[in-house]
Amino acid sequence: MTDEQQTTDETGMVYLVGAGPGDPELLTVKAKRLLNEADIILHDKLSGPDILAQIDENRLEDVGTRGHGDTTPQSYVNDRMVELARAGKEVVRLKGGDPTVFGRGGEEMAYLADAGVPFEVVPGITSAIAGPEVAGIPVTHREHASTFSVVTGHEDPTKEESAVDWEALAATGGTIVVLMGVTRLPDYTAKLQETGMDPETPVALVERATWPEQQVAIGTLETIPAVAEEAGIEPPAVTVIGDVAGTRKEVLEFLR
Ligand code: SAH
Repeated sequence: MTDEQQTTDETGMVYLVGAGPGDPELLTVKAKRLLNEADIILHDKLSGPDILAQIDENRLEDVGTRGHGDTTPQSYVNDRMVELARAGKEVVRLKGGDPTVFGRGGEEMAYLADAGVPFEVVPGITSAIAGPEVAGIPVTHREHASTFSVVTGHEDPTKEESAVDWEALAATGGTIVVLMGVTRLPDYTAKLQETGMDPETPVALVERATWPEQQVAIGTLETIPAVAEEAGIEPPAVTVIGDVAGTRKEVLEFLR
C-alpha cells in the first residue's frame, strides 16, 4: 500500500456510547475517556446538560430531538456518522442511558456495519433501572417482584396492533417500567386497570433522574395521572408500576 492509499483508506471509528441518566459521575470510565479523546460528539437531548457542559463546544454536534415531535431524521444521523468516520474521525455517538435501550443503537450498528465502518458499543447505565433506584425504588425486591419489564409508553395502548401487550405485562406480577410514558400515562394506567390490575397498585414517576432538577411523584394506578399533572411532571420521566414503588416510603427518611 502506498502512503497516499493509507491516508485515503484511513477510516475512523464510531463509538456508540451510553451517557447514563445524566449525572456526570455516572458516566463509565470508558465513556469519560472517549468524550475527552473524540474528534466529534454527536449527541441527543438526553445526554444530560451537565455532561455536555464539560465538553468543549466545538466538538459537540446536536442531533437530538428538535422540539415537539420535530426530530432529526435517523437517516441524517446515520449518514453523518459514516461521513465523519470516512473522513478519518473518531466519532462518539452519545446517547442518554444505555445506547441499545430504546436508543436506536441496533439500527445504528446495522447501518455502520453495512457501510463498512468499524464501531464499538460502550454500555451505559439505563434510566430504566437507575431512575427508580435513585428515587429509592428497587426494580426487583425479594418480597415484591422477581421480574421487571421495560416497555415504551409512546404508543396508543388501545390500538389493535399495539406492540406492548399490557395484559400480559400485568399477568407477570412483576415490576413494569415505562419509558417515554408521560404523555400517555392516563391511557396505559387505564388499560392496566381494565386488564384487572389492582387500582391501588403503587406507581411512581421519576423525572430527570440524577439531574439537579430531579422530581418524583407517587400515587396509585388510579390516582397517578392526576398526581403527576399536579406535580407538573414532564418528559423525560420513568414510570414504575408495582409494589416496589410502595417501598420508597420505608427508606425515604434516609435517602439522600
Ligand atoms: N436509552 C435510554 C432511553 C431512551 S428512551 C436509557 O437507557 O435510559 C427516552 C426515555 O428514557 C425518556 O422518555 C424517559 O422515559 C427515559 N429517560 C432517559 N433519561 C432519563 C432521566 N434522566 N430521568 C428519567 N427518565 C429518563
